[in-house]
Amino acid sequence: MRLVMLGAPGSGKGTQAERLSKKYNIPQISTGDIFRALKRGEQLPGMTLSKETIDEISSIMNSGNLVSDDITIKVIENRIAMSDCQNGFILDGFPRNIPQGEALDRLLEKHNIKLDAVLELDVPDEAIVERLSGRRYCKACGKTYNLESNMPTEEDRANCPEHCENLILRDDDKPEVVKQRLATYHDVTEHLKPYYKNQDKLITVIGRKNLENTIKDVDEALAKL
Ligand SMILES: [Zn+2]
Repeated sequence: MRLVMLGAPGSGKGTQAERLSKKYNIPQISTGDIFRALKRGEQLPGMTLSKETIDEISSIMNSGNLVSDDITIKVIENRIAMSDCQNGFILDGFPRNIPQGEALDRLLEKHNIKLDAVLELDVPDEAIVERLSGRRYCKACGKTYNLESNMPTEEDRANCPEHCENLILRDDDKPEVVKQRLATYHDVTEHLKPYYKNQDKLITVIGRKNLENTIKDVDEALAKL
C-alpha cells in the first residue's frame, strides 16, 4: 500500500499515519522528522544521502529556511529506495504543493510504482483550533499529548526522564499561529485535492471528534482499495 496523507495541521493525519503504518507494516515517512534528524547530524540507517546533501540540509534548517523541493524529492527518493518500503509507505507532510506533487509523480514513474490512494482527513478549521490549543508537548521525551483526549499513561511517565511532568503549549499550537498555518494549508496544499481527484486517487474521510469513528471510516475507505 502506497499512501499519501493529506490534511491540515491538526487534522489528525499524523495519528492515522502512525496507526496505518503499524497495521500494514509499512513505514510512515515524514520529511519533517527526517530533516530534523539530519539537522542533528543523524541519518536513518539505510539512507545513503551524500555528506554534501546532509550538510546542505542541516545548514538550511539551522538558518530557519525551508528545504527546497529539489532537495526534498532527493530525500524522498533515497528513503523509498530502502528495503522497508518494498511493500509500500505512507507519506506524511509531503507533497505540500502542486510542484511537489508533480515531482513525486515523476519520481514514482521513474521507479515504475504508483500511489494507491491519497487519504484526506477533512476537519473544520474551528475544530482544529480547539484541538490544537489543548495539545501539550513534553520537552524531556518529545511526546505530544492532549489535555482532552490523550494524557500521559503510566507507561509514558515511566519512559520519560522527567515523567512528563512539565507539559507545554508549543508556539505552533497557539490559536493565532494555528489560524495562519490553516490559511497556508488552504492557499497552497489544498490545491492537491483537485490534482489527485483528477487522478482518481483522492479519498476524503471526515475527521470526527471521536477518534474511534474516524478510525472506522478510514479503515472502511481503505478496505475498498
Ligand atoms: Zn515526557
